[in-house]
Amino acid sequence: MRKRKYFLDLNDLQYKQVRLSLEKKLLRLVLWFAGTIAIAVFYSTLFHNFFGSPKEALLSQQVGNLKLQYSLANRNMDNSLKSINSLRMSDEIRYRPILEMESLPESYRNPGFGGVDRFVDLDGYYNSVMMKNERTKIEEMKNMLSVQGESFTTIKERTSEWKYEMDHLPAISPVDPKFPLGDGFKYREVHPVLGIGRMHYGQDIEVPYGTRVYATGDGKVVEAGFNSGGFGNYVIIDHGFGLQSIYGHLSKIEVPKDLNVKRGDLIGLSGSTGSSTGPHLHYQINKYGQPTSAINFFNNDITQEEFNEMIQAFQSKSKLR
Ligand SMILES: [Zn+2]
Repeated sequence: MRKRKYFLDLNDLQYKQVRLSLEKKLLRLVLWFAGTIAIAVFYSTLFHNFFGSPKEALLSQQVGNLKLQYSLANRNMDNSLKSINSLRMSDEIRYRPILEMESLPESYRNPGFGGVDRFVDLDGYYNSVMMKNERTKIEEMKNMLSVQGESFTTIKERTSEWKYEMDHLPAISPVDPKFPLGDGFKYREVHPVLGIGRMHYGQDIEVPYGTRVYATGDGKVVEAGFNSGGFGNYVIIDHGFGLQSIYGHLSKIEVPKDLNVKRGDLIGLSGSTGSSTGPHLHYQINKYGQPTSAINFFNNDITQEEFNEMIQAFQSKSKLR
Protein backbone atom coordinates (compact mmCIF):
# COMPACT_ATOMS: atom_id res chain seq x y z
CA MET A 1 0.00 0.00 0.00
CA ARG A 2 1.29 3.37 -0.97
CA LYS A 3 2.10 5.70 1.90
CA ARG A 4 0.24 8.95 1.76
CA LYS A 5 1.33 12.11 3.49
CA TYR A 6 -1.04 14.67 5.05
CA PHE A 7 -0.69 18.15 6.37
CA LEU A 8 -2.83 20.37 8.63
CA ASP A 9 -4.37 23.23 6.67
CA LEU A 10 -4.45 26.11 9.14
CA ASN A 11 -7.00 27.96 7.06
CA ASP A 12 -9.77 25.55 7.69
CA LEU A 13 -8.07 23.32 10.31
CA GLN A 14 -8.42 20.24 8.25
CA TYR A 15 -5.95 17.50 7.37
CA LYS A 16 -5.32 17.41 3.68
CA GLN A 17 -3.27 15.10 1.49
CA VAL A 18 0.13 16.45 0.42
CA ARG A 19 0.29 16.83 -3.31
CA LEU A 20 3.76 17.35 -4.75
CA SER A 21 4.39 19.67 -7.63
CA LEU A 22 5.73 18.21 -10.89
CA GLU A 23 9.11 19.84 -10.28
CA LYS A 24 9.45 18.25 -6.91
CA LYS A 25 8.40 14.89 -8.31
CA LEU A 26 11.05 15.15 -11.00
CA LEU A 27 13.65 16.19 -8.49
CA ARG A 28 12.84 13.17 -6.35
CA LEU A 29 13.06 10.89 -9.34
CA VAL A 30 16.48 12.26 -10.28
CA LEU A 31 17.71 11.91 -6.71
CA TRP A 32 16.42 8.36 -6.57
CA PHE A 33 18.25 7.45 -9.80
CA ALA A 34 21.45 9.09 -8.64
CA GLY A 35 21.28 7.20 -5.33
CA THR A 36 20.64 3.89 -7.02
CA ILE A 37 23.55 4.40 -9.41
CA ALA A 38 25.87 5.43 -6.59
CA ILE A 39 25.00 2.32 -4.63
CA ALA A 40 25.45 0.14 -7.74
CA VAL A 41 28.88 1.65 -8.46
CA PHE A 42 29.91 1.23 -4.84
CA TYR A 43 29.01 -2.46 -4.69
CA SER A 44 30.35 -3.26 -8.12
CA THR A 45 33.74 -1.68 -7.27
CA LEU A 46 33.81 -3.57 -4.00
CA PHE A 47 32.98 -6.84 -5.82
CA HIS A 48 35.58 -6.33 -8.55
CA ASN A 49 38.26 -5.59 -6.02
CA PHE A 50 37.62 -8.91 -4.37
CA PHE A 51 36.60 -11.13 -7.29
CA GLY A 52 37.72 -9.36 -10.47
CA SER A 53 35.62 -8.56 -13.47
CA PRO A 54 33.92 -11.36 -15.44
CA LYS A 55 36.32 -10.66 -18.32
CA GLU A 56 39.26 -10.99 -15.99
CA ALA A 57 37.82 -14.20 -14.62
CA LEU A 58 37.52 -15.55 -18.18
CA LEU A 59 41.09 -14.54 -19.00
CA SER A 60 42.42 -16.03 -15.83
CA GLN A 61 40.58 -19.24 -16.66
CA GLN A 62 42.19 -19.25 -20.10
CA VAL A 63 45.63 -18.68 -18.59
CA GLY A 64 44.94 -21.59 -16.23
CA ASN A 65 44.00 -23.81 -19.17
CA LEU A 66 47.13 -22.82 -21.05
CA LYS A 67 49.27 -23.56 -18.03
CA LEU A 68 47.66 -26.96 -17.74
CA GLN A 69 48.31 -27.65 -21.40
CA TYR A 70 51.91 -26.54 -20.95
CA SER A 71 52.39 -28.92 -18.07
CA LEU A 72 50.80 -31.80 -20.06
CA ALA A 73 53.00 -31.01 -23.05
CA ASN A 74 55.92 -30.87 -20.67
CA ARG A 75 55.13 -34.31 -19.32
CA ASN A 76 54.79 -35.69 -22.87
CA MET A 77 58.11 -34.18 -23.77
CA ASP A 78 59.75 -35.74 -20.72
CA ASN A 79 58.40 -39.13 -21.83
CA SER A 80 59.63 -38.57 -25.36
CA LEU A 81 63.04 -37.57 -24.05
CA LYS A 82 63.11 -40.80 -22.04
CA SER A 83 62.29 -42.83 -25.17
CA ILE A 84 64.97 -41.06 -27.17
CA ASN A 85 67.40 -41.69 -24.34
CA SER A 86 66.63 -45.40 -24.33
CA LEU A 87 67.25 -45.49 -28.11
CA ARG A 88 70.51 -43.75 -27.43
CA MET A 89 71.45 -46.35 -24.82
CA SER A 90 70.75 -49.20 -27.29
CA ASP A 91 72.85 -47.34 -29.79
CA GLU A 92 75.78 -46.89 -27.40
CA ILE A 93 75.61 -50.12 -25.41
CA ARG A 94 74.50 -52.65 -28.03
CA TYR A 95 74.86 -51.69 -31.66
CA ARG A 96 78.08 -49.73 -31.67
CA PRO A 97 80.15 -52.21 -29.61
CA ILE A 98 78.88 -55.19 -31.66
CA LEU A 99 79.68 -53.43 -34.91
CA GLU A 100 83.01 -52.21 -33.50
CA MET A 101 82.02 -48.60 -34.00
CA GLU A 102 83.26 -45.73 -31.84
CA SER A 103 80.73 -44.03 -29.59
CA LEU A 104 79.59 -40.59 -30.59
CA PRO A 105 81.38 -37.82 -28.66
CA GLU A 106 79.30 -36.32 -25.87
CA SER A 107 79.87 -32.82 -27.27
CA TYR A 108 78.17 -33.92 -30.49
CA ARG A 109 75.30 -35.63 -28.74
CA ASN A 110 74.80 -32.82 -26.21
CA PRO A 111 75.89 -29.50 -27.63
CA GLY A 112 74.29 -27.70 -24.65
CA PHE A 113 71.64 -25.04 -24.83
CA GLY A 114 72.66 -22.87 -21.90
CA GLY A 115 74.77 -19.71 -22.07
CA VAL A 116 73.37 -17.39 -24.69
CA ASP A 117 69.73 -16.51 -24.15
CA ARG A 118 68.19 -17.97 -27.28
CA PHE A 119 64.64 -17.00 -26.53
CA VAL A 120 64.72 -13.27 -25.77
CA ASP A 121 61.43 -12.98 -27.62
CA LEU A 122 59.83 -14.69 -24.66
CA ASP A 123 61.08 -12.13 -22.15
CA GLY A 124 58.71 -9.86 -20.31
CA TYR A 125 55.81 -12.25 -19.94
CA TYR A 126 54.32 -13.32 -16.66
CA ASN A 127 55.26 -16.98 -17.49
CA SER A 128 58.52 -16.31 -19.35
CA VAL A 129 60.53 -18.86 -17.37
CA MET A 130 58.03 -21.63 -18.02
CA MET A 131 57.85 -20.85 -21.74
CA LYS A 132 61.63 -20.65 -22.05
CA ASN A 133 62.08 -23.99 -20.30
CA GLU A 134 59.63 -25.54 -22.70
CA ARG A 135 61.33 -24.09 -25.75
CA THR A 136 64.74 -25.26 -24.49
CA LYS A 137 63.34 -28.75 -24.06
CA ILE A 138 61.93 -28.72 -27.59
CA GLU A 139 65.29 -27.60 -29.00
CA GLU A 140 67.04 -30.30 -26.99
CA MET A 141 64.64 -32.93 -28.26
CA LYS A 142 64.99 -31.78 -31.87
CA ASN A 143 68.76 -32.04 -31.58
CA MET A 144 68.67 -35.47 -29.93
CA LEU A 145 66.32 -36.79 -32.61
CA SER A 146 68.44 -35.52 -35.43
CA VAL A 147 71.68 -36.89 -33.88
CA GLN A 148 69.99 -40.24 -33.16
CA GLY A 149 68.55 -40.40 -36.66
CA GLU A 150 71.95 -39.81 -38.22
CA SER A 151 73.53 -42.33 -35.88
CA PHE A 152 71.02 -45.01 -36.85
CA THR A 153 71.65 -44.33 -40.53
CA THR A 154 75.39 -44.88 -39.95
CA ILE A 155 74.67 -48.01 -37.92
CA LYS A 156 72.40 -49.33 -40.66
CA GLU A 157 75.11 -48.78 -43.26
CA ARG A 158 77.68 -50.44 -41.01
CA THR A 159 75.27 -53.33 -40.35
CA SER A 160 74.97 -54.14 -44.04
CA GLU A 161 78.77 -53.90 -44.39
CA TRP A 162 79.12 -56.08 -41.33
CA LYS A 163 76.59 -58.60 -42.67
CA TYR A 164 78.53 -58.68 -45.95
CA GLU A 165 81.76 -59.34 -44.03
CA MET A 166 80.11 -61.97 -41.85
CA ASP A 167 78.68 -63.76 -44.90
CA HIS A 168 82.08 -63.75 -46.56
CA LEU A 169 84.12 -64.79 -43.55
CA PRO A 170 85.10 -68.50 -43.88
CA ALA A 171 83.41 -69.20 -40.58
CA ILE A 172 82.17 -72.79 -40.61
CA SER A 173 83.70 -76.23 -40.83
CA PRO A 174 84.04 -77.35 -44.47
CA VAL A 175 82.72 -80.82 -43.58
CA ASP A 176 80.38 -82.38 -41.07
CA PRO A 177 81.92 -81.74 -37.63
CA LYS A 178 81.46 -85.39 -36.63
CA PHE A 179 84.74 -86.15 -38.42
CA PRO A 180 87.85 -85.90 -36.23
CA LEU A 181 90.48 -83.28 -36.82
CA GLY A 182 93.93 -84.42 -37.92
CA ASP A 183 97.12 -82.40 -38.07
CA GLY A 184 96.71 -78.69 -37.70
CA PHE A 185 98.82 -75.66 -38.52
CA LYS A 186 102.25 -76.82 -37.28
CA TYR A 187 105.74 -78.00 -38.15
CA ARG A 188 105.69 -81.68 -38.99
CA GLU A 189 108.91 -83.51 -38.16
CA VAL A 190 108.20 -86.11 -40.81
CA HIS A 191 105.93 -85.36 -43.74
CA PRO A 192 103.78 -88.47 -44.34
CA VAL A 193 104.66 -88.58 -48.04
CA LEU A 194 107.93 -86.73 -48.37
CA GLY A 195 109.41 -88.22 -45.20
CA ILE A 196 111.13 -84.97 -44.25
CA GLY A 197 110.37 -82.18 -41.82
CA ARG A 198 108.01 -79.52 -43.23
CA MET A 199 105.57 -76.89 -42.14
CA HIS A 200 101.92 -77.99 -42.36
CA TYR A 201 99.83 -74.97 -43.26
CA GLY A 202 96.32 -76.36 -43.14
CA GLN A 203 93.93 -78.18 -40.90
CA ASP A 204 93.49 -81.83 -41.85
CA ILE A 205 90.13 -83.44 -41.23
CA GLU A 206 89.86 -87.21 -41.29
CA VAL A 207 87.03 -87.85 -43.69
CA PRO A 208 86.29 -90.94 -45.78
CA TYR A 209 86.25 -90.82 -49.59
CA GLY A 210 83.32 -88.95 -51.09
CA THR A 211 82.51 -86.79 -48.07
CA ARG A 212 80.69 -83.62 -49.06
CA VAL A 213 82.88 -80.52 -48.79
CA TYR A 214 81.18 -77.12 -48.46
CA ALA A 215 82.19 -73.53 -49.09
CA THR A 216 82.88 -72.04 -45.66
CA GLY A 217 81.91 -68.49 -46.60
CA ASP A 218 80.57 -66.51 -49.56
CA GLY A 219 83.15 -65.80 -52.24
CA LYS A 220 84.43 -66.52 -55.71
CA VAL A 221 86.17 -69.68 -56.89
CA VAL A 222 89.54 -68.37 -58.04
CA GLU A 223 91.16 -71.74 -58.64
CA ALA A 224 89.66 -75.18 -59.30
CA GLY A 225 91.90 -77.85 -60.74
CA PHE A 226 94.67 -80.32 -60.15
CA ASN A 227 98.02 -79.68 -58.50
CA SER A 228 100.31 -82.68 -58.68
CA GLY A 229 102.71 -81.18 -56.15
CA GLY A 230 100.59 -81.17 -53.07
CA PHE A 231 96.89 -80.43 -53.00
CA GLY A 232 95.85 -82.84 -55.79
CA ASN A 233 92.34 -81.76 -56.83
CA TYR A 234 91.78 -78.52 -55.06
CA VAL A 235 89.55 -75.50 -54.92
CA ILE A 236 90.48 -72.01 -53.76
CA ILE A 237 87.73 -69.57 -52.82
CA ASP A 238 88.48 -65.87 -52.46
CA HIS A 239 86.28 -64.34 -49.74
CA GLY A 240 87.54 -60.79 -50.02
CA PHE A 241 89.05 -58.95 -47.02
CA GLY A 242 92.34 -60.71 -47.88
CA LEU A 243 90.99 -64.15 -47.03
CA GLN A 244 91.14 -67.28 -49.17
CA SER A 245 90.10 -70.82 -48.26
CA ILE A 246 91.77 -73.86 -49.85
CA TYR A 247 90.28 -77.34 -50.01
CA GLY A 248 92.78 -80.06 -51.02
CA HIS A 249 93.04 -83.76 -51.91
CA LEU A 250 89.50 -83.82 -53.34
CA SER A 251 88.25 -86.80 -55.34
CA LYS A 252 85.82 -84.61 -57.26
CA ILE A 253 85.45 -80.89 -57.88
CA GLU A 254 81.86 -79.60 -58.13
CA VAL A 255 82.47 -75.94 -58.99
CA PRO A 256 84.16 -74.25 -61.94
CA LYS A 257 86.67 -71.42 -61.67
CA ASP A 258 85.09 -67.92 -61.47
CA LEU A 259 81.85 -69.18 -59.94
CA ASN A 260 80.43 -67.10 -57.12
CA VAL A 261 79.56 -69.37 -54.24
CA LYS A 262 77.62 -68.96 -51.03
CA ARG A 263 78.49 -70.42 -47.66
CA GLY A 264 77.21 -74.02 -47.54
CA ASP A 265 77.39 -74.60 -51.31
CA LEU A 266 78.78 -78.01 -52.23
CA ILE A 267 82.18 -77.46 -53.84
CA GLY A 268 83.54 -81.01 -54.04
CA LEU A 269 83.93 -84.47 -52.55
CA SER A 270 86.83 -85.50 -50.40
CA GLY A 271 89.51 -87.92 -51.53
CA SER A 272 93.23 -88.55 -51.39
CA THR A 273 94.63 -86.93 -54.52
CA GLY A 274 98.01 -85.17 -54.50
CA SER A 275 100.47 -85.51 -51.68
CA SER A 276 98.35 -87.71 -49.44
CA THR A 277 98.61 -91.17 -47.92
CA GLY A 278 94.92 -91.68 -47.25
CA PRO A 279 91.56 -89.94 -47.60
CA HIS A 280 91.37 -86.67 -45.73
CA LEU A 281 90.56 -83.05 -46.38
CA HIS A 282 93.28 -80.46 -46.23
CA TYR A 283 91.58 -77.21 -45.31
CA GLN A 284 93.68 -74.10 -45.33
CA ILE A 285 93.06 -70.39 -44.87
CA ASN A 286 95.39 -67.78 -46.25
CA LYS A 287 95.28 -64.23 -45.02
CA TYR A 288 96.80 -61.80 -47.51
CA GLY A 289 98.59 -64.77 -49.09
CA GLN A 290 100.04 -66.06 -45.81
CA PRO A 291 98.74 -69.34 -44.39
CA THR A 292 97.09 -68.86 -41.03
CA SER A 293 95.64 -71.31 -38.52
CA ALA A 294 92.33 -72.41 -40.06
CA ILE A 295 91.03 -73.87 -36.81
CA ASN A 296 90.69 -70.33 -35.44
CA PHE A 297 88.08 -69.57 -38.06
CA PHE A 298 85.46 -72.13 -37.21
CA ASN A 299 83.86 -73.54 -34.15
CA ASN A 300 83.66 -77.32 -34.26
CA ASP A 301 81.71 -77.46 -31.06
CA ILE A 302 78.38 -78.09 -32.76
CA THR A 303 76.54 -81.37 -33.32
CA GLN A 304 76.17 -83.15 -36.63
CA GLU A 305 72.44 -82.29 -36.66
CA GLU A 306 73.14 -78.63 -36.02
CA PHE A 307 75.72 -78.58 -38.79
CA ASN A 308 73.38 -80.27 -41.26
CA GLU A 309 70.57 -77.92 -40.36
CA MET A 310 72.91 -75.01 -40.84
CA ILE A 311 74.06 -76.26 -44.26
CA GLN A 312 70.45 -76.82 -45.33
CA ALA A 313 69.54 -73.34 -44.17
CA PHE A 314 72.44 -71.83 -46.12
CA GLN A 315 71.57 -73.85 -49.22
CA SER A 316 67.87 -72.96 -49.20
CA LYS A 317 68.84 -69.32 -48.75
CA SER A 318 71.32 -69.71 -51.60
CA LYS A 319 68.58 -71.09 -53.92
CA LEU A 320 66.33 -68.15 -53.10
CA ARG A 321 68.94 -65.70 -54.28
ZN1 LIG B 1 97.07 -81.18 -44.79
